[in-house]
Amino acid sequence: MSLFDQLPRVSLCHQPTPIEYMPRLSKHLGINLYIKRDDCTGLAGGGNKTRKLEFLLGEARSQGADTLITLGGIQSNHARQTAAAAAKYGFNCELVLEDVEGTVKQDYYANGNILLDQLFGANIHRVNEGVDCLDYAYQLKTELAKKGHKAFVIPLGGSSAIGSMGYVQCANEILDESQSNKISFDKLFLATGSAGTQAGLLAGFKAADCKLPVYGMCVSQDSQTKSELVTALLAESLKLVGLEGTGTQGDVITDGAYVGEGYGIHTPAVVEAINLCAQLEGILLDPVYTGKGMAGLIDYCRSGKITPGENILFIHTGGSQGLFAYRETF
Ligand SMILES: *Cc1c(COP(=O)(O)O)cnc(C)c1O
Repeated sequence: MSLFDQLPRVSLCHQPTPIEYMPRLSKHLGINLYIKRDDCTGLAGGGNKTRKLEFLLGEARSQGADTLITLGGIQSNHARQTAAAAAKYGFNCELVLEDVEGTVKQDYYANGNILLDQLFGANIHRVNEGVDCLDYAYQLKTELAKKGHKAFVIPLGGSSAIGSMGYVQCANEILDESQSNKISFDKLFLATGSAGTQAGLLAGFKAADCKLPVYGMCVSQDSQTKSELVTALLAESLKLVGLEGTGTQGDVITDGAYVGEGYGIHTPAVVEAINLCAQLEGILLDPVYTGKGMAGLIDYCRSGKITPGENILFIHTGGSQGLFAYRETF
């Protein structure tokens, strides 16, 4: 038995999430495209952070914390899911949210995710771009301690080794579902940000001796920086699944070609990807993450990096609540 089975955990997530075929988009792209519906994890509109939070809240509870502090962008999906999870398990919630220069602004400060954060009763600290949010979070923890509270700081995107265990679970679901539906996937695509999703999937596949290649489409930063981030977290995550010291050489694939000008700033290809999924499949993507991931997948089809007829799995990591902050784009 690996450490994974002994980690404290709470229950937040509808699982397994379904894998669905996308017939009309498949035809449009000339491939067989499937989608893993992690936008349907259940909590607060769903999304990938819910899986991570099952383990993170387990850890917070075992440490006796009464408050969760986390950080992200103003329109952070992770912050929304953390606020909801905190409400469900009776934690106070403090969110340190960084304004990102260059994003559209009309609904950005009041609609979408941040509207929901407030509804879940979270306390919001808005900080300017460039402020060290993690440092701010730890200062807040110290201040709260003076008032008798014990806070647990959840890192950006919930991406610690413990958080990424949520995606070991997801990797196991994918293996089960592909076996019971007799589909063999050639490649898996996702949007990668704070790296916990990709690292957890890779750790889960490695533990199951599965070599399915995982393509992380960067939503920020360049490919090399992101690859180092995923690799470091993968090494930590492998310890928790009992594979400490196993090499990660060649396992981490990232592509920074679809980032555009930076985090939260979308490109015309992102708008096209969102429109295609909505109009061919009735599926909502988002402009910050899944839109960039799908823009990458579409370009791989058009440029021949995915060959016609391949079986491709896209992980829908959620985020459509963010659409309401980008009204003027659509
Ligand atoms: C956070 C997030 C991601 C990226 O996941 P990481 O584990 O941070 O790499 C992708 N899609 C959505 C919608 C997200 O909120």
